[in-house]
Amino acid sequence: MRSEKITAIILAGGSGKRMGTACKKQYMLLGGRPLLFYALRAFEESCVDEIVLVTNEEAYCRRELVEQYGFGKVTRIVPGGAERYDSVYAGLLAAEGSGYVLIHDGARPFLTQELIDTAIEGAKKYLACAVGMPVKDTIKIADEDGFAVQTPRRDLVWQIQTPQAFSYPLILKAYEHVRERMPEGITDDAMVVEYGGYARVKLLRGSYRNLKVTTPEDMVLAEGFLKDWQCADGRTVSN
Ligand code: C5P
Repeated sequence: MRSEKITAIILAGGSGKRMGTACKKQYMLLGGRPLLFYALRAFEESCVDEIVLVTNEEAYCRRELVEQYGFGKVTRIVPGGAERYDSVYAGLLAAEGSGYVLIHDGARPFLTQELIDTAIEGAKKYLACAVGMPVKDTIKIADEDGFAVQTPRRDLVWQIQTPQAFSYPLILKAYEHVRERMPEGITDDAMVVEYGGYARVKLLRGSYRNLKVTTPEDMVLAEGFLKDWQCADGRTVSN
């Protein structure tokens, strides 16, 4: 019988170089808590069955996050790899037996239950989906000398976020196919599915607040979103 188990794979195995701080971005404090706390809490409170956490700081995460906040759905903590797709593959192997997986960047703290539900429904209906938002700016494709060569139609251009959600057998097969060939520039999971032609990836509306904290100015935005979010949510920083 086909497994219906839903596993969230949360990625926190990056080096956070673009933040330019000694502390890796996924552990920087936002509202007094490590950034990674927010994604873990969202999945803990959701209908997913299990969480696989991909990190190279296992002892810290176990002590300061999993045990500290009682995140009982975290069943596996596995080390990340050199590139994001290596970390995803490690997470996929640890999620064996799942029917569906949601892959999420640990550096995106403003994940809501609505986004998680959207991704799960999308995976069940389309087998492969990603949340994202239509771009607000005009996008240009440049040549290597920095001259504009193409302007795609703005109404068809999306900025892609996570979670991205998939049938587990499909995404595992797609990753195995890509790992045999290792094409350049794989930056998300939808690309892995597109590359092998395994399924059409449905794009579903996410949220402009579902920001990935990458550079120092993102932390300023995140502090602002957090205050606003806590008011709307009725939570205070300490609950
Ligand atoms: O580098 P990028 O911003 O695309 O990273 C997105 C997410 O993937 C982050 O949460 C980061 O910690 C994670 N990552 C990872 N392993 C890597 C690189 C990135 O788990 N080797």
